Amino acid sequence: MERILVSACLLGSKVRYNGSYRLNDHPVLSRWQSEGRIVQICPEVAAGFSTPRPPAEIQGSGDGHAVLRGGGRVIERTGGDVTALYREAGQLALDLARETGCRFAVLTDGSPSCGSSFIYDGSFSGSRISGRGTTTALLEENGIRVFSEDQIDELDDLLTRSDPNVA
Ligand code: SF4
Repeated sequence: MERILVSACLLGSKVRYNGSYRLNDHPVLSRWQSEGRIVQICPEVAAGFSTPRPPAEIQGSGDGHAVLRGGGRVIERTGGDVTALYREAGQLALDLARETGCRFAVLTDGSPSCGSSFIYDGSFSGSRISGRGTTTALLEENGIRVFSEDQIDELDDLLTRSDPNVA
């Protein structure tokens, strides 16, 4: 059975920077939970960030892939450089995915860690750019396919076609 790494905030954990969650009530998530497929993690909290914490964005030219190559930084709105902790967050997510055999992930879009189709542009003005967060980038570079919360049906269809354990 395919197991799926899922952002903890999508499952109702109050782990976002502002202490909120992004509970997603998609019925497929509930089914995956009852099937025992879900492995949840908040990469930032796993790396030691507290909740609440200052918002952070990726700065420099590029996205999470650039941060992994040393070409970008993750900076808190208060000015702190948290690049190293963001790299660690991604590594912890990758370690967990490997330990539990996850080849797929559903992560919260827009996050500097978990974003997959967009992130924010580093200006803290609410401007979006296309790109990956740091955790998503590391997972992808290690062969784990990352879907956003808007692509749950797409991943479910993929599993249904390839996994005989899906009803
Ligand atoms: Fe949610 Fe990911 Fe941010 Fe944690 S790091 S709060 S799981 S989006």
